[in-house]
Amino acid sequence: MSLKIFNTLSGEKEDFVPLTPGEVRMYVCGVTVYDSSHIGHARSLLTFDTIYRYLKFSGYRVQFVRNFTDVDDKIINKANDQKSSCETITDRYIDEFHRDAESLGLLAPSLEPRATVHIAEIIELIQKLEERQLAYRIDGDVFFSVPGFPGYGKLSRKRIEELEAGARVEIDERKKSPLDFALWKSSKAGEPSWESPWGPGRPGWHIECSAMSSKYLGQPFDIHGGGRDLMFPHHENEIAQSEGAFGLPLARYWMHNGLLTVNGEKMSKSLGNYFTIIYETIERIACSGINRQNTVADASLMSSFCQEMNDDFNTPRALALIFDEVRSLNRLLDAKQNDGIAERASALETMCEALGLLQDGPEAFFSRKKARWLRQQGFAEEEVQKAIAVRDEARMNKDWREADRIRNELLAKGIVVEDTRGGTTWKVR
Ligand SMILES: [Zn+2]
Repeated sequence: MSLKIFNTLSGEKEDFVPLTPGEVRMYVCGVTVYDSSHIGHARSLLTFDTIYRYLKFSGYRVQFVRNFTDVDDKIINKANDQKSSCETITDRYIDEFHRDAESLGLLAPSLEPRATVHIAEIIELIQKLEERQLAYRIDGDVFFSVPGFPGYGKLSRKRIEELEAGARVEIDERKKSPLDFALWKSSKAGEPSWESPWGPGRPGWHIECSAMSSKYLGQPFDIHGGGRDLMFPHHENEIAQSEGAFGLPLARYWMHNGLLTVNGEKMSKSLGNYFTIIYETIERIACSGINRQNTVADASLMSSFCQEMNDDFNTPRALALIFDEVRSLNRLLDAKQNDGIAERASALETMCEALGLLQDGPEAFFSRKKARWLRQQGFAEEEVQKAIAVRDEARMNKDWREADRIRNELLAKGIVVEDTRGGTTWKVR
């Protein structure tokens, strides 16, 4: 049962064969740190997090690099608007990004390189392109010569002639072809700049990914990913730069979220409700007294799960499988048919772990859910505890009517009281 990946470059689902057996080298274009992240970022981040997790789950050693673009017109404009420095802006949004990533439950990549600390590598790469007559300089700017690279357009399946026709609107008279793009930009007053063979300046956007991916992953590497919106021109330009400089393919498999069946945005919304159901089932099993020691995950369930995920990381179908299993586990628990539940519960937990779900454990999840609910309702936890203490006392005095009255009063507010062997607990409905 081998992993298949939809490769944008070939337009086909292909068997995944890593360049080095047992290892995966993957680069994903990160964010430009000039503003808060939005749902589009979350979608791409969740998609590639799932891919990263599943590759690791499948036993691969994964080297995952995701960059931060920390030099860019938008950053410079923001710094000028706020009378601040670019470093202040980028540091602030990198910190914010890390907090967002944590709240989304993302795994940290192996490396998160920043463009501004790779200026030497960027300059070296541009020099290589000059040596190969793929770059030319004009007034301290350096441009990539698109017509010099015959494979241009192969990822996005665009023809050079069509692109040239479309690009004429914003033609820079100095460029040899309207498709040529900046590798290095001479510095203007008030902009961050670095010394270079072409005078003081800063890198263009596309070149950083080529420089950092080859530094950390070599060339070619296995998987290059990013949002679908980056396919053209960014990824096309990365290919032109990297393949032009080294004469080797940049990456074997190109993955674009949006083309994938994974829909991070929809997934993150609907998962919120589903989490509760799964956590409840796991807790139910924990409280059922079923012996879970030394159990092996149910093989047939695991095999169905891997079959779905091996099909281009088909997360929606893998999730459907998980929720079907939750439903049938609940039916078995209702009927007190405990045979096989331990194995199936282990499979459920393993599947969730592979997707990065339910990593909190039921206790932490429910206490967070309670805290959020109390905040929304404007209740203090002490009020609930106090009502439960009064009810406990009523029960001790065998005043069942009063105990029931308090229980119903809480229920009307959405609080479910449960009497267990360990005492009275409560949860939100
Ligand atoms: Zn990139």
